[in-house]
Amino acid sequence: MCGIVGVTCLPGKLENPAKIIRKCLERLEYRGYDSVGLASIFKNRIIVRKGKGKIHEVHKKLNFDGMPGNTVIGHTRWATHGAPSDNNAHPHLDCGSMVAIVHNGIIKNYLELKEKLILKGHIFRSETDTEVVAHLIEEYLNEGLEPYTAFKKTIKEIKGSYAIAAILVSEPDKIFFAKKDSPLIIGIGEGYNFVASDIPAFLDYTRKIIVVRDYEVGYITPTRVFIEDLFEEKPVDLSRRFRIISWTAEMAAKAGYPHYMLKEIHEQPRALRETINGLSSEIYEAAKMVIEARRVFIAAAGTSFHAGLVLDYYLNSLAGIPSIPLIASEYNKYCKSVKPGDLLIAISQSGETIDTLMAVREFKKREAKILTISNVIDSAIPRESHLTVYTRAGPEIGVAATKTFTTQVVVELAFIR
Ligand code: GLU
Repeated sequence: MCGIVGVTCLPGKLENPAKIIRKCLERLEYRGYDSVGLASIFKNRIIVRKGKGKIHEVHKKLNFDGMPGNTVIGHTRWATHGAPSDNNAHPHLDCGSMVAIVHNGIIKNYLELKEKLILKGHIFRSETDTEVVAHLIEEYLNEGLEPYTAFKKTIKEIKGSYAIAAILVSEPDKIFFAKKDSPLIIGIGEGYNFVASDIPAFLDYTRKIIVVRDYEVGYITPTRVFIEDLFEEKPVDLSRRFRIISWTAEMAAKAGYPHYMLKEIHEQPRALRETINGLSSEIYEAAKMVIEARRVFIAAAGTSFHAGLVLDYYLNSLAGIPSIPLIASEYNKYCKSVKPGDLLIAISQSGETIDTLMAVREFKKREAKILTISNVIDSAIPRESHLTVYTRAGPEIGVAATKTFTTQVVVELAFIR
């Protein structure tokens, strides 16, 4: 989960489009906040400013508002592939800096595409799944395809989930977009148009929207919206698709739910789908660690501890493997007997839970192996573990854990399966 947004406007129609995009991103920060970036087109060139950190921190360093240009895209990230870092922050560029991309979702076949592109000479600057999109578009542009055709051909090749916005130097007043399984909304203004992951992003500028559907692709200009079906290539009749929003920005951020917790409960199908789709070979390595362990301990706190009790049940009753669940703060009681060959399974949504981190350190000192389940890529506990399996629930604003609990349980089931 993360937030994408883009605007394209007639010259002078909106004052400081980059500042507007920065403000839109602040409204989307609930979707992701480990890094942020903007790209704009100005005088035949793409300008990118991006970095690791919260929007206000990175803005203080890089001054997003100082970016010129009437076509701007932005991104607030919740990392799924590649740790939060300046290089992995979106937007991502092709080799020639002619294309900039922001993406929300997971490109499942990115490794395969990346290998092919590397063989063709493309140089990658990040560890993200997203960057392949920029290079693939570049590849098709080099083959002589028109920009929009190159974009569509790229979208047809990627698998997984995506809401993508792309700008191309050769089409300075267009933002190309595509959607599958991640949300994407168009905001229609007078002399400007927006695309965004969620409605509150642009509610200060327009209440007229179109909800983009799966497998739809198209572009916006300052005065036009074009959408078609990706495979049938049949333009969508937009007259039936306009909606007028009557909510406030705050209501819209909660997608009509009275509070975030309820919204997050309803996000569970998507969170589970993303988590299952994101699992790969690490799940077999995790299973091997469990099977080969001398003894299995499970350490966690709060709701994660309850996910630990579910794992304890799965291990004992389904896999016939005895396990010892412990509340992380009580690790001292057990660690004296810990020996090489033991395994500690640490469960922490944030990956920063201090008691769980202390348990990990103590068990590791005694040469136990550490296997972690976490929702935050490259956080403290994953960094100190031998192996981490990630849940991909996106950020959780509600204090009571909901979607992060169910995604933890599904990961547990995957490695004892
Ligand atoms: N998979 C992309 C990344 O890790 C997008 C992340 C997201 O949608 O949360 O950079």
